Amino acid sequence: MKVDLHCHSYFSDGSLSPTELVRTAHEHGITHLALTDHDTVDGLAEARKAANDVGLCLINGVEFSCTWEKQLLHVVGLDIDPTNNALRAGVTINKQFRADRAEAMFEDLEQHNIDIRESVLAQLCDRGVPTRPHFAQALVEHGYAKDKKQAFKRYLVRGKPGYIPMEWPSLEDVGGWITQAGGVAVLAHPNRYKFTRTKLSRLIVEMVPAGVCGIEVSTSTTDKQQTAMLGQLSLQFGLLASIGSDFHSPDQPWARLGSAEDLSKELKPVWANFINSDEKPAC
Ligand code: AMP
Ligand code: MN
Ligand code: MN
Ligand code: MN
Repeated sequence: MKVDLHCHSYFSDGSLSPTELVRTAHEHGITHLALTDHDTVDGLAEARKAANDVGLCLINGVEFSCTWEKQLLHVVGLDIDPTNNALRAGVTINKQFRADRAEAMFEDLEQHNIDIRESVLAQLCDRGVPTRPHFAQALVEHGYAKDKKQAFKRYLVRGKPGYIPMEWPSLEDVGGWITQAGGVAVLAHPNRYKFTRTKLSRLIVEMVPAGVCGIEVSTSTTDKQQTAMLGQLSLQFGLLASIGSDFHSPDQPWARLGSAEDLSKELKPVWANFINSDEKPAC
């Protein structure tokens, strides 16, 4: 069994279709894959078809944006029912936030004489939710940056053209959407927020009553020390532990499918909740 519980398709900021993603995961030996696109579940039906074809177990997922203490956090929902009304209402809210933010980003960039609207819309092909990587790609295409990394330095971040401060829904909101849809809510890539251990502990104490009872212990951006620390925190607070590559594209060798390190034995794997469980034959 090889699990990867965090990745993206072209329904958000990934480069592959759900079918290509599932086939690539299968080729990498992954047996259990969660598709977790940003604020959308539109890729899941296609992913499920492809998963059935190759004999891979697909877990329905999503990655919601939320705000906690003015900080953007990502919360992954695993084994959700994408048809659940609360979940669908949540997806609708966050998609609207993204559409409104994209419009404000276009306008802010236009103030700096940068018009990348057509290139962003062309990438979305009427299917994807607009994300900052789409803007970064468009800025590269128009020669404003040599690559996406540079685009994220010169634009789209706090204090730079194209940055729009956002107050996303709360932890309680996203935790509620996921749990009402029968899913498990997991704090994504905790190392990326650059919190001290004290602040991360405070977040955990607040997120658990909001329904977020798991953390990603191992991702493609965690080193051994961080994984060990996150494992300790998950034990200390009785959290479920998850792993996921946060794969976006074959062009990003630092986040290959299946690249997250396995969980150490003493941790409680989040997938015990939905893999090989009799009452939930998700696979
Ligand atoms: P958004 O949710 O639309 O604000 O975009 C966030 C996504 O942008 C993340 O999930 C990453 O995939 C990507 N991202 C954020 N910061 C950077 C960066 N500095 N360089 C490249 N990609 C980034
Ligand atoms: Mn992303
Ligand atoms: Mn994320
Ligand atoms: Mn992600």
